[in-house]
Amino acid sequence: MSVLTVAQAASWAQTLGLPRLDAQVLLLHALGRAPHDRAWLLAHGDDALDAAAQTTFADATQRRLNTEPIAYITGQKEFFGLTLQVDKRVLDPRADTETLVEWALSCMADTLTLEMVDLGTGSGAIALALKHSRPDAAVRAVDASADALVLASANAKRLGLAVTFHHGSWLAPLNGHTFDAIVSNPPYVASDDAHLAELKHEPLTALASGADGLDDIRVIVREAVRHLKPNGWLLLEHGFDQAQAVQTLLGNQGFVNVQSRPDLAGILRCTGGQWKTVK
Ligand code: GLN
Repeated sequence: MSVLTVAQAASWAQTLGLPRLDAQVLLLHALGRAPHDRAWLLAHGDDALDAAAQTTFADATQRRLNTEPIAYITGQKEFFGLTLQVDKRVLDPRADTETLVEWALSCMADTLTLEMVDLGTGSGAIALALKHSRPDAAVRAVDASADALVLASANAKRLGLAVTFHHGSWLAPLNGHTFDAIVSNPPYVASDDAHLAELKHEPLTALASGADGLDDIRVIVREAVRHLKPNGWLLLEHGFDQAQAVQTLLGNQGFVNVQSRPDLAGILRCTGGQWKTVK
């Protein structure tokens, strides 16, 4: 490429097939500017890109054309008003998962001395959003991936949010602990689902969960009952067509008030229930 202006670089990427918004966000990244600063691009359309910015932008454009999530290219993602650092060690946090956080917060609105845990925390998104919204709560987070925990604890430190991290599988590292809420966005895609090919940049262990996508949810539902306080909630994100199956799993395990909540597209995406210990 010869020397391009800001406006020419944006149209070059669009000619290659990048949506305008993606091109703008990646251009801002190459220029070292904030992702929401699109007004700057419009005001500086005639500025020449320096060689370093041009190389960074060309590389970012190729990565995006190869379907890599923007969050991995820019190294960050907004979740529940927090800026998280993310990379290929963890799932790219989805805006739909914010509905799970909102649900957990509303269930816990009247709970004092609140104890919550996020299972399979990845970047730390859910746990950090919960701690940010309820600074009074004791929040723990678990992940089986040591790599994910490095990133999640760095996010916690940078954001000044005191979450306690545990390495292990689901509730295994939390023997003896009970919670008011257990919250999780576990892997839930069926292992032969064609959709996985579109998610090839993300860790498979954060996405796929056996033949029907429910293997991990089954384990969590089974283990959760030993880790909930009386009236505690288990709240799970799941696939677009799994609400009924997860309701059945919770009902069979003895959960009550079993119900589902929609995501931003109106699809039942989260299901949960309450654990009442028999008196
Ligand atoms: N929601 C993601 C997707 O299908 C999957 C995330 C997950 O398995 N927890 O795009």
